This record gives sequence, structure tokens and C-alpha cells, in this order.
Amino acid sequence: MSNGMVYLVGAGPGASDLVTVRGKQLIKACDALVYDYLVYDELLNWTKPGCVKTYVGKRSGFHSKPQEDIEKLLIDYAQDGKLVVRLKGGDPFIFGRGGEEADSLAEAGIGFEIVPGVTASMGAAAALGIPLSHRKDSSSIVLVTGHEDPGKDETLVDWAQYAKLDATLCIYMGLTKIDHISAELLKAGMSSETPVAVVRWATLPTQESCIGTLGTISETVKESGIRPPAMIIVGEVVRDAPKNSWFEQKPLFGKRIAITRTREQSSNLKSKLQSLGADVLELPLIQVTSAVQESVKDEIFAELGSYDWIVFSSPNGVRYFFNAFLAEFKDLRSMGFMRIAAVGPATAREIEKFHLQVEVMPETHTGPDLADALIETGSIEHAKILIVKGNLGTDDLIKPLEDKWAIIDRFEVYKTGPTDLSQNVAAETFRNKGAHAITFTSGSTVRSFVKQAKSLQLEDGAAIPKTFSMGPQTSKVMKDVHVPLVKEAKISSIDGLVAAIIEELGEK
Ligand code: SAH
Repeated sequence: MSNGMVYLVGAGPGASDLVTVRGKQLIKACDALVYDYLVYDELLNWTKPGCVKTYVGKRSGFHSKPQEDIEKLLIDYAQDGKLVVRLKGGDPFIFGRGGEEADSLAEAGIGFEIVPGVTASMGAAAALGIPLSHRKDSSSIVLVTGHEDPGKDETLVDWAQYAKLDATLCIYMGLTKIDHISAELLKAGMSSETPVAVVRWATLPTQESCIGTLGTISETVKESGIRPPAMIIVGEVVRDAPKNSWFEQKPLFGKRIAITRTREQSSNLKSKLQSLGADVLELPLIQVTSAVQESVKDEIFAELGSYDWIVFSSPNGVRYFFNAFLAEFKDLRSMGFMRIAAVGPATAREIEKFHLQVEVMPETHTGPDLADALIETGSIEHAKILIVKGNLGTDDLIKPLEDKWAIIDRFEVYKTGPTDLSQNVAAETFRNKGAHAITFTSGSTVRSFVKQAKSLQLEDGAAIPKTFSMGPQTSKVMKDVHVPLVKEAKISSIDGLVAAIIEELGEK
């Protein structure tokens, strides 16, 4: 018996916040993640560094890895002692071959657990406002597969028996067989007036849906251009969907909005736009990478105990400094008794994660203000100060300190440079399809965007985005570098920016 463990985890219907709390914990903790086609990309970003991610691409009709190989992979990883997450769209035990995987794990003597997920029919019904059961209209629900096998014209299901049930039918993998399925249901006596909904990418900002009746749905689907993967829901309960479809009524539903980002920052803007229904393309223009100067590091670490102050000018500096420090020393006490200064609250928060107290932080968070705050302590003359920094200039911090006779050592631990956007999924979507809007939240996002212009060149036919600026300073930089401006936020804040976008693009 190995020590490894396999968790068959349901990823939910699509939206990353519809996965269970347990599922998210396991994705964050696992050593190996084996995932399918239907899983939304965002979940893959939750894994810890070093997690091995394997795409096994199960897509109806295209089994890029045979089922036996997937099962073998899970067993191999577990026997290697790994915590394995087998992530499957929806629920692992509903049309996901989870049962077979559990069997083979049991046979191999591997421990496993099952973590349920919101299955696609329930996600789809919720997004369209369709109550799957209803006291008046439907007292049973059938989950059935249309068995899309491109090699066969017919499906394996005896549709006539379902026609007689008076149930809500939720048909998975049925879209390419919709002509056959609707004809069979009609032949078996279901009314041609029975309402039918078809929805693709339910719960995602890219959701598409159409509603018809059993008599018309084949045509309606063709007209709408909806392709698999899609859910078909048949039954009287679908009747109210056009008015109850709350998800598609969100003010920015169907709008693709590119947001420009220059640093690793918590993306408040992204989550706000997503909650309003937008499909957000996050363009990470600048990348921060570890770049500890090795030669300098040895010298500094050798005399760490002799510094009076350590000064952090960014949250990244804190992260990369402690990565390097703890790799060498393993014990925080090796820091010695130096006093600690931080440029602002985000930097201070990173420091406090190590249970270290920040003694000096200026009220406004700039280099010169930090220098002033340090000078005010009256301890700077002849003090030995370690400045932890990136590759960009911190002269406005250092110069005033040197003027007051401080002895400064610079320790570069990271560097900032343009992201390689050639392989970035969001950038690719932006190039191919364009966007309805693009946002700029600072002058530096504008400048970085211009620097990256070549990698973001729109292809022919791509939608040209309307440009939004967070405030006058950003707009001024746009003007300086000839980026046209469509709308500036009335109040310079994330909420102000969101309000401007709704005003310009929203339906209501
Ligand atoms: N285990 C999954 C189902 C896998 S079968 C679950 O419990 O949901 C794959 C089928 O599920 C697709 O062909 C489609 O019919 C349906 N499906 C999955 N995600 C969907 C989504 N977001 N929107 C609509 N249908 C979806």
C-alpha cells in the first residue's frame, strides 16, 4: 500500500467560484493535478509551485488519452507518494467515468476520496433561472446522456421511455444529436409545444443559450450557431426561462473587457467586472521575477547582524528577500536585531506575515517620504542601512539618506520586465477577437501597453476596444503617448472606472 492518495474532485459547471470549498483546498494542496477539457483555466492557477499538471483532454469524440492510461497515471502518481487531484468537470460521478477510475484505484489498493461538484445540468438550470422540479409542472428529473459518438448517427438511449415520464429531461452530450432526439421524443407522444432550452458554457461569461420548443429547437439551435459542449433541458419548467435568466441580464454580460496590469496585484477590478457578467481578459504587461544578485548576497548575509536598518521598498522585495534568506538560514533569528522600515501598507503586510514588526512607514507611500520618515527617527547618521530593491531606480529613497551620512548597501532581489505575451492565453484571445473595452488604471499601465503594442496587435476583424481611464493623470499619459481616450472615470477609483464602463457599454 502506498502513502499517496487520489481525490476525484468535481470542478463544477464552469465558473471558478462554483467549485466546493473542499475541492479548492485540495487543488491548492495537491502534488499532481490531472484535468479534463471542461475545466475552466482559472482553477489551474490555484495549484502550489511544483505541482505537476497533466491535461488528459477528455472531450467528447476526442479522447486524447485513453481511459486506461488515465487510470494508470493516477495509480503511478499515488504510488509515488503524491497527493493527486483528478479534476473533472461538473460532478465526477455524473457522466464523467469517475466510477471506473474509483474501481481501478480500489483494485490497485490506492486510497481515494470523492468530492462532489455542481453538475452541468444544475449549473445550467441555475444560470437560466429554470427550476428543474416544480410543484405544478415536474416532479421528477432525468439526467441522461445523448452519447455523442461522431461515428454513430443514432444514440444508445431509448428516448420513447423518457417521453412518457412527464419529467424534466437534462440531456448531456446531446447537441449534435438534437434532430434525432427531438424527433424521437415527438414520435413517442411529447407535445411539440414543450419548451426546450439549450445552453453552452453555462455559468461562464461566454455562456450562450437559446430557447425554443420541441418542434422548433433543431432549427433554433442551427440559427443560433450554438455548438457543443451544451446542455439541453426539456420540460414545462423551461417556460419561464426567458424572463428568469438572471445571469444573462447582468449589465456587462457578453462584454469582453481587457484589463491592463503592471504588477502582481490583487485584482479587485477583475472580480468586480466578472461579478457584473463581463468576460475579463487580464493582460499582465509586466512580470516580476526573482533575480537575487548572488555575489552581493553572500557578502550581505555574512554581515547581516551589523545592519541598523533594513528597508523594503515593495511587497515583491519582501517576498524575494525572505525566499533567499530562508533558503540559506532556515531560522528567522539569524536576521539579528535590525530595525525594519516599509514604504507602504502592502509591503508592511508582507513583512508582518513573518511576525516581524515594521517600525517606520510614511503616510504617503513614496521613496522620498520613506527617506524623510527614516530621517525623522534621528538614527540615520552613520547608520548601516540595507535597502532591498528591484532592478528599477530607488535613488529618490537612497540619495536623501546618503546626504544624512547613512551607510547604504543595496540588495537587488528581483527584476521587472515586460511579460512574454506570445504564449499568453488572454493576449491571444485579445489579438484574435479584440474586446469591447480596455481599461488603464495608471500612467505606467498605459506606457507598458504601448511598449507591448506589437504583441497585442489586433487581427483583421477583431473588435476594436473602447478605452477607459481611471482618472486625469492616466488620461494625460494616454494623450502624451497617443492612445485615444473614450471615457474617463468621474471618480478616480476602481468603482468609478466600473461605473464609467457600465455607463458606456451596459444595456441598462
Ligand atoms: N461530469 C460532468 C459531465 C461530463 S459530460 C458534469 O457532471 O457536469 C460533458 C457534457 O456535460 C457536455 O457535453 C455538456 O453536455 C455538459 N456540460 C458540461 N459543462 C457544461 C457547461 N458549462 N454548459 C453546458 N453544458 C455543459
